[in-house]
Amino acid sequence: MNPAHLIDTHCHIGAYGDPISVVRAAESTTSIVAVTESPEEYRRLRTRLGRRDHIQVALGLHPLRSHTFTPNDLARFFRLVPETTWIGEVGLDFSKQGRATKKDQLRIFSAVLAEAQPGQHPLTVHSRGAEADTIGFLGQSKLSAVLHWYTGPTNLIDAALAAGLYFSYNIAMVRSKKFSELVRAIPRDRTLLETDGPFARGQHGPARPHQLEEVVSALALGWDVSHADANRSILDNQRRFLAQTAGRPYPE
Ligand SMILES: [Zn+2]
Repeated sequence: MNPAHLIDTHCHIGAYGDPISVVRAAESTTSIVAVTESPEEYRRLRTRLGRRDHIQVALGLHPLRSHTFTPNDLARFFRLVPETTWIGEVGLDFSKQGRATKKDQLRIFSAVLAEAQPGQHPLTVHSRGAEADTIGFLGQSKLSAVLHWYTGPTNLIDAALAAGLYFSYNIAMVRSKKFSELVRAIPRDRTLLETDGPFARGQHGPARPHQLEEVVSALALGWDVSHADANRSILDNQRRFLAQTAGRPYPE
């Protein structure tokens, strides 16, 4: 990945109708962490995208699919861990959608955290409706992780910061009513970027990685700094965050 690029730390490339054109449009400006929801999807996406310098396919076990994962899926996940750089999408979801599968989710997420080695893989983590538990588990694990599209209470943010966690913002977040509250609670130096495309939508439809500059502009306003300063902060944060995964040093 190019250290001068903004990094979209959470993008469902495989879910766009035209994944290859999304990837190509980002080539000169943006690096992409292409999250997956299962080891099966990870394998498929890696084959489909081939080797590209600005893409890292992340190995995931999506919380809302936890009840469908067999011991075989889990074994396959663990077999693939050594070859992946990022892990995600993983996490917990105790919202209405996920409440019924809470036990399965806890089983899968604990297994993932137990297998991942501190310093080896950055994680991008889902926490909807389960923020306190997610932050608690990650804090114990000592892993380098980003809370993606955080929608939880702002009073848990201090605990997340104490656990060393980062937060990734997407276009839907910066356009939401909660943005001003988030930008006050989350320090500038713990801020990263994501699209969560194609699920998060901006003004012109599903968010795309080459549009991350729009998120930087909103953050610049929120922080009351210039766009260039905001951009510099994000690049610094990316470098610092990735440097924590010492097993995979970030190219200088
Ligand atoms: Zn996602």
